[in-house]
Amino acid sequence: MEETPSEDPGVARDAAAQGEGLPVIKIRYRSGVVGETQRVVHAATFADESVITACALSIPVAQVERIEVGGMPCMQCAARIALATQPRLSRPDR
Ligand SMILES: [Zn+2]
Repeated sequence: MEETPSEDPGVARDAAAQGEGLPVIKIRYRSGVVGETQRVVHAATFADESVITACALSIPVAQVERIEVGGMPCMQCAARIALATQPRLSRPDR
């Protein structure tokens, strides 16, 4: 059930060279690759022929689709991004 992507879901690969860091995109598994309950929307970036999600999944590019709006967010990705973007000064002492 391998489906050839009609279009590279990637964005400009030279973004890192321009000093903007790796481009972050929203992706989910293509329909039919996994069950519908696993087709949550991850924050991800490209690594060769795969995408690496914020929740540490490595998924082949051919198995994902890029999504702009909607979809159920991956809670692990959301939590990691929320923690990573929280100002350090507001964190309670540990
Ligand atoms: Zn995720």
